[in-house]
Amino acid sequence: MRPSYKVTELLGDGIGAELSEAVHALSEALPIDLRFEPVDLSLENRRARKGAIYDEAVASIEANKVALKHPTITAEESPNQVLRRRLNLSVIHRPVYTIPGVPTNFRPELDVDIIRIATGGTYDDPGRMIGDSGAVSLRIVERQPVLEAARYAFNLARKTGKNVTSASKYTIQKATDGLFQSVADSVAAEYPEVPHHAELFDALLAKIIMKPELFQVILVLNEYGDFLSDMACGLAGSLGIGASANLAFDASAVVRVALFDAAHGTAPDIAGKGLANPTAIFLALSMLLYQLGEIRVGKAVKDGTLDLLRRGVRTKDLGGSESTKTFTAAVAAEVAARL
Ligand code: NAD
Repeated sequence: MRPSYKVTELLGDGIGAELSEAVHALSEALPIDLRFEPVDLSLENRRARKGAIYDEAVASIEANKVALKHPTITAEESPNQVLRRRLNLSVIHRPVYTIPGVPTNFRPELDVDIIRIATGGTYDDPGRMIGDSGAVSLRIVERQPVLEAARYAFNLARKTGKNVTSASKYTIQKATDGLFQSVADSVAAEYPEVPHHAELFDALLAKIIMKPELFQVILVLNEYGDFLSDMACGLAGSLGIGASANLAFDASAVVRVALFDAAHGTAPDIAGKGLANPTAIFLALSMLLYQLGEIRVGKAVKDGTLDLLRRGVRTKDLGGSESTKTFTAAVAAEVAARL
């Protein structure tokens, strides 16, 4: 019997509909049953249903444990931020690697897993003016999410035989980054077989450009992870092709729920024209399959998609001539042939 899984699918705006169709078409080619449970997070539906649509999304994700999210318009609120808060998604895992067929200005190959604490840092407090002569905001670092992120990073490194670099400015931000660094060091001591070193974040940025091969898993606080992910994507040639896992943990630091999404937005300029590149959502689906324990299927989806790009089968944004549908059909055939 084919294994069967329920997956919450968060529908979005713009090219979201075409990406959803592409995901369903690819899923048909897999030797497992993915039963998608849709929740409509389009702006129109969010406005109509107000907070109730988030209650529905949260209940569905809590029940299914895994979700695939399509891009949504950020208007009154950011659905990603609402879901991160409501589901306590405290860690973001963003693999960034050179993709064959994606032109880049950066010659060395890059292959890093960025593990970012998704809460706190400078991002949870918009700050306030002090008269008109200055402004202040709080920078928050909490032990628990750092612990969860560190354990996730070291587990990933142990499983894959990689090293971990924890990066911060602990010499200057002694309390906040000092706390981060001491938690990272104490978790590192629990994994003596995983090579670990601490870097100052500014030095890391220089070294990753000069010697990217030194870095495999990188553990960072929220804003550093934000800057680093975009820089790494720039080095790999595209901001648009990445995918992420947003993770929440139980008391024993095991992943409790996981939400996977593409890094790009709703691409309103090409929506409905059959031009959307589904690579990122396929890579997000591949990560979801790994989370379900379907490693062979997840690997086939990732390798099949990347191999087609390498062979020149690409959508227009990457200089090719495939439409969303023809690229998807090619990926589905390639993946089926690998399984
Ligand atoms: P965008 O990523 O939507 O588009 C930037 C450029 O990249 C556009 O030219 C677009 O056509 C192209 N592009 C993006 N994804 C593509 C794909 N899959 N295939 C081919 N081309 C693609 O960024 P934007 O224009 O700044 O944002 C548009 C909307 O998306 C905004 O409302 C923003 O809030 C939202 N957004 C949502 C998310 C999310 O839900 N995760 C992320 C980023 C932006």
